[in-house]
Amino acid sequence: MESTSKEFRKYAHQFVDWMADYMDNIENYPVKSQVVPKEIYNQIEDSIPNQGEDIETIFNDFVNIIMPGVTHWQSPNFYAYFPANTSPPSILAEMLTATLGIQGMKWETSPASTELEERMMEWIQKCIGIPNNWVGVIHDSASSATLASILTAREQKSTFRINETGFEKDTKFRVYCSEETHSSIEKGAKIAGIGRANVIKIPTDQTLRLRPEVLLQKIKEDIKNGYKPLCIVAAIGTTGTTAIDPLNEIADIAEKFKIWLHVDAAYAGSVLLLPEFHHYLNGIEKADSFVFNPHKWLFTNFDCSAYFVKDKNALVNTFEILPEYLKTKTDGSVNNHCDWGVPLGRRFRSLKLWFVMRNYGLVGLQKKLRNHIELARWFENEIAKLPEFELVVPRNINLICFRFKPQKFKDVEVLNRINESLMHDLNDSGKIYLTHTKVNDIYTLRLVIGQTNVSERHVENTLQLIIEKATKTFKKYNREVY
Ligand SMILES: *Cc1c(COP(=O)(O)O)cnc(C)c1O
Repeated sequence: MESTSKEFRKYAHQFVDWMADYMDNIENYPVKSQVVPKEIYNQIEDSIPNQGEDIETIFNDFVNIIMPGVTHWQSPNFYAYFPANTSPPSILAEMLTATLGIQGMKWETSPASTELEERMMEWIQKCIGIPNNWVGVIHDSASSATLASILTAREQKSTFRINETGFEKDTKFRVYCSEETHSSIEKGAKIAGIGRANVIKIPTDQTLRLRPEVLLQKIKEDIKNGYKPLCIVAAIGTTGTTAIDPLNEIADIAEKFKIWLHVDAAYAGSVLLLPEFHHYLNGIEKADSFVFNPHKWLFTNFDCSAYFVKDKNALVNTFEILPEYLKTKTDGSVNNHCDWGVPLGRRFRSLKLWFVMRNYGLVGLQKKLRNHIELARWFENEIAKLPEFELVVPRNINLICFRFKPQKFKDVEVLNRINESLMHDLNDSGKIYLTHTKVNDIYTLRLVIGQTNVSERHVENTLQLIIEKATKTFKKYNREVY
């Protein structure tokens, strides 16, 4: 059945009511979906219906079939991974984006999309302290932006030859990052033809920061052995523990050996809106590119990844391709963002950023970020006071890495199993959702306090729940072991 605008209006109003109710009642849902594999799949018809169905019927199935299989990332009790926040201004903008349905590959295909994106990147650039001679563009993800960096570095290094004629057989590029950096670096190196074996993981210090002296030594060794150092990726906020690599020292090395330096601040980039964290970026002027995801901790719907690059021409020369059917009369005088990354087609992603940044304002965003950091500081202090718990690494921003460590158990494997079991108990309760990492073989619980609507009450209740479940876990293990 074809939806007329009359019918659309009716359901749109109904959906908006549902959306607002969802926001109000989100705490009543289990944070982590409690379904088992194939539970949703088996409830979906196995082929397309022959005749159209009405929206009412489909919507009822959404509520009854789909919703139980949803993990509630927007719950204030979501502490897992990193957040993928939304906010009311972002959702409203996404409604408009969906309605316009534009495809902003070239300036001409919607000038507003390109030009608002240029302005939004300038806004972000100014408030987080990216040098003003760099340019920005929105990518779908940090993984794509990092791939763009590696490809641009490769093309610059080969004077754009690999794009034209492919690899020569004795090309031996190297990419460097710490042992803690995100898997997207390895993925990028695989796709760019560098090879995973040529991603050199540099050991870290006690706070899990890349050790520049080891990097320097490794680069010298590689040069001696005929390798070509291509790219270094420094992390501002690693995924495991939000470790902050010493950018300035790494940048000196990159500059000295003329190696492309990419900065991955996918999560922690938001914190650069706070002047008290600007020192994280010391040395950025010596780097070549930078990525940060507003779709994580800046209240902007997935997907929206802000990518900045010093040498715009190197980027565009790497990706540009102009078949006849894409030629327009403004080529050369405007930015055509399809030439700034892998995909041709592009969503109108700057609109939600505009709504978010205007609706909160810089001060409003800063207030929210500081509040999250304050809550994290409180949680960290509480954990530090508890004799049966341990902070595994010191907190940098708003991620607390900790574990349950009852004094009776000393063996690292036993403690790992206890903490894994505690995490599953917590997540199966439906009350909160958190995830883990390993720090030097220690099973470590990660609690990220950064969800749009998280407040003191949630964090206090979460601490109580963790203590309560830990006591139960302890009893269970005590019985099993003795
Ligand atoms: C989340 C994250 C990524 C990957 O982000 P996507 O946008 O999902 O590709 C990369 N690096 C770091 C440090 C991250 O935290």
